[in-house]
Amino acid sequence: MATALIIGAGGVGRVVAHKCVMNNHIFDRIILASRSIGRCVEIQSELPEGAIEIDTVDADNTDEVIALIQKYNPSILINVALPYQDLAIMDACIATKTPYLDTANYEHPDEAKFEYKLQWARDEKFKEAGIMGLLGSGFDPGATNVFCAYAQKHYFDEIHTIDILDCNAGDHGYPFATNFNPEINLREVSAKGRYWENGEWIETAPMEIMQVWDYPEVGPKDSYLLYHEEMESLVKHIKGLKRIRFFMTFGQSYLTHMKCLENVGMLGIEPVEHQGMKIVPIEFLKTLLPDPASLGPRTKGKTNIGIVAEGLKEGKKRKIYIYQVKDHEECYAEVKSQGVSYTTGVPAVIGAKLMVEGKWSGQGVFNMEQFDPDPFMDEMNTQGLPWKVIEMDV
Ligand code: NDP
Repeated sequence: MATALIIGAGGVGRVVAHKCVMNNHIFDRIILASRSIGRCVEIQSELPEGAIEIDTVDADNTDEVIALIQKYNPSILINVALPYQDLAIMDACIATKTPYLDTANYEHPDEAKFEYKLQWARDEKFKEAGIMGLLGSGFDPGATNVFCAYAQKHYFDEIHTIDILDCNAGDHGYPFATNFNPEINLREVSAKGRYWENGEWIETAPMEIMQVWDYPEVGPKDSYLLYHEEMESLVKHIKGLKRIRFFMTFGQSYLTHMKCLENVGMLGIEPVEHQGMKIVPIEFLKTLLPDPASLGPRTKGKTNIGIVAEGLKEGKKRKIYIYQVKDHEECYAEVKSQGVSYTTGVPAVIGAKLMVEGKWSGQGVFNMEQFDPDPFMDEMNTQGLPWKVIEMDV
């Protein structure tokens, strides 16, 4: 039996809280803590009485996180606040020898750039503390890394190319909204694209490369090449890899809105002077846009996220597609959240479950593909994210 301390009561935090309660044979004590108590109260009220406890914390402040951990003595800390808090929370875990899990890699609030460097740099400290840190246990990163490890283990002797294909074909009826934290989402998609080929990172202009991919159960969609964090660890851990790319679908309306907002400076992360006050344009935009959590009851359609891997098996060329399809309305009926929060939150709970059960164990800081993919893939099938593998023509 384990105590789970969840930090962050946003869209993903809601799913993690609900799913931990559904797994209360593993997590017999669940605490949800966030910057403001309002969302925690809302989530608590959706669950059976006494199912979770709630608290507040400013997770930018390591001492506050240490005090919170000392209050509840958790078996694991599940960080689903924002990427800005990763380092402060990791340091609190080191100080208290508490196992750690997150779903997104560290980002500095003043620089639209994300990388594992500063989290990997804590590997020694995690080892010294005798604890495990699992990085990126969402869907992408997360399940997609596990799909790559699964392909490597069961389908290939050598993988040469990987395309990660992320499609959200959900429709929420708003002209423009983001399906997870708007600031993080817009910083990610307005950045330059990047992919890795023959040992080098190749940069592209934002949205420069597009392909139409036919997503099973969804149909053909324009898919744009973006930089995405799981590629940074996969190029280290998938041996023999020659190229890896990441594609995400965007509709024309989303792209037109984003371009206009960018052109008028609304995606800026530098403070600007407005009537004697300093405001950060993208933070103000977040205030204006629909709260991603409010999209849940309105969103219809499906997500389909997967990987296509190509390489060699016993000297013969092979290409496979591993993917997972999820229906937004089904997610809402189960945990009162849309599919993007669901497909992130469920892998976080699976990662936490495997850690507390000791099925995934180690000392130091790890990425998902470093572990045996089989128990994770089995859990996906039973926790609401069933997946498929198909052989493709080479
Ligand atoms: P939300 O913005 O909906 O929620 C974030 C929550 O964190 C809010 O409740 C917020 O509190 C809380 N928070 C923010 N700052 C602090 C702080 N200093 N201390 C304590 N709590 C804080 O985001 P999402 O739920 O959509 O996303 C959560 C995480 O999941 C993000 O890191 C995101 O990047 C990641 N993600 C990962 C994906 C994957 O597949 N790997 C996909 C989608 C998201 P308040 O309510 O007070 O603002």
